[in-house]
Amino acid sequence: METMEPVIGLEIHAQLNTRTKLFCACPTEFGAVPNTNVCEVCTGQPGALPRMNGKALELAAKAGLALGSAVNRESLFSRKNYFYPDLPNGFQTSQLDPPICQGGSLTLELGDGTEKTVRLNRIHMEDDAGKCLHDEKRGLSLVDLNRAGTPLIEIVTEPDLSSASEAVNFLKKLHALLVRLGVTKGRMEEGEFRCDVNISLKPKGSPVLGTRAEIKNLNSFKFVGQAIEYEIERQTGVYGRGGSVSQETLHFDSEKGETRSLRSKEEAHDYRYFPQPDLPPVEISGELLARLRETLPPTPEEAKKRLVALGLKPRQAELLLERPGAPEYFHEAHKIDDDAPRIYSLMEELFLPACQKEGLDPSDSLFAPPKLAALAKLLRDGTVGRRKAQELFPDFFAKGSDPSEAVRSGNLSQITDPSELLPMVEKVAGAFEKEAKKFLSGEEKILSFLVGQVMKESRGRACPKTSAELMKNHVKERFAGAAKETV
Ligand code: ADP
Ligand code: MG
Ligand code: ZN
Repeated sequence: METMEPVIGLEIHAQLNTRTKLFCACPTEFGAVPNTNVCEVCTGQPGALPRMNGKALELAAKAGLALGSAVNRESLFSRKNYFYPDLPNGFQTSQLDPPICQGGSLTLELGDGTEKTVRLNRIHMEDDAGKCLHDEKRGLSLVDLNRAGTPLIEIVTEPDLSSASEAVNFLKKLHALLVRLGVTKGRMEEGEFRCDVNISLKPKGSPVLGTRAEIKNLNSFKFVGQAIEYEIERQTGVYGRGGSVSQETLHFDSEKGETRSLRSKEEAHDYRYFPQPDLPPVEISGELLARLRETLPPTPEEAKKRLVALGLKPRQAELLLERPGAPEYFHEAHKIDDDAPRIYSLMEELFLPACQKEGLDPSDSLFAPPKLAALAKLLRDGTVGRRKAQELFPDFFAKGSDPSEAVRSGNLSQITDPSELLPMVEKVAGAFEKEAKKFLSGEEKILSFLVGQVMKESRGRACPKTSAELMKNHVKERFAGAAKETV
């Protein structure tokens, strides 16, 4: 048998991050008491008229702009007719032709250092169905319509992917992008980002595609990978036995790790699409598109370049970009104090770990960027020492205090004046005579212990460098003769 290669295309559903549904004002909130977030529109009552949610349109267009799609100034909703118990209208309101966005692409970095550009076919808007809940004990099926009418975009790729790992890589990158844009919250366990995988095999190098099977509704990256691996094996086996793959819809059983037929081509749907007469064409103005384009965040590559240009090392920029909200926080602080390395190190060592501990997004912290910038300044001009900053930080962070204000009112600034430090140095040298003499006899490491005692004496305010200098000189003067005796 010739060697076969897999061909994969994805259809991704992402729930748009809106407060209300696509055609009515019901909340999109997850987990509410069944059938409480419903109205005459989303339960398909006769005569109820849908009205398009403007925010959903903006988010769909934003996704398209970020993915390099052409956004149609006018698109159309159609009725996609079929019967499901959780679809009260008897049709899904979706877009066939023209959809909101056409074309576009997403480029992946492959493991071997090369890149691959995956083309998009289209992005369209549609509403979600409700949910059937099957109560096997009581032999009942129940319907919850809270989800009915929730806004989705469907992103359809060209069949450009050729392995499970490429597909997973693509989905992860797309997910991260859409979440970063605020297009979707992307909570996969709640079904906000899920995907159908189309997969076929063809003789290596052949331009003709084989017959595809479609695995429906996968809601984790892991399952996508497993389902594709399984399906490649299954189809390889079918061809190996001289059989042919039939065009069918499959379900992935994640417990057994295998795909199972849901319906075959013979029963394939004829949706009888026609333009939805209750909705006017969807229009999007040039001004709105221009405004949306301005809100697009830079690509990760651009964002990294920008941070490096401000003075961060490439690795530091990467670390910052890995944490949601951190680059924005950095730029805000940097606007006030342009000491990029110091802002970065304060974030890395103190601020971000504290946020992580509290499960807080940087933008939600009381310790806002101007406060971190103020702390950077205090450190740079020596008003506050590193150690003191570390000690005070948890309190600043918890209360959102302005460090410069706290230093002024609490007399917390660093003591660098030798005349103020010397009495403490003398006291410590007296109290720790044995250690002081050890230092004199060459045990240099013990100096940091002595300086530590001065820090303690000063309640953390002593400048360690000045204290160390004073301590060295003082100990020499005071014990130089005596030290020889004891050795
Ligand atoms: P439908 O709307 O009936 O599901 P489409 O032609 O719109 O069919 O394709 C849906 C998805 O299937 C797309 O992502 C496309 O790239 C992919 N696809 C189409 N043909 C094949 C094939 N032979 N093998 C793998 N994927 C395919
Ligand atoms: Mg399909
Ligand atoms: Zn409603």
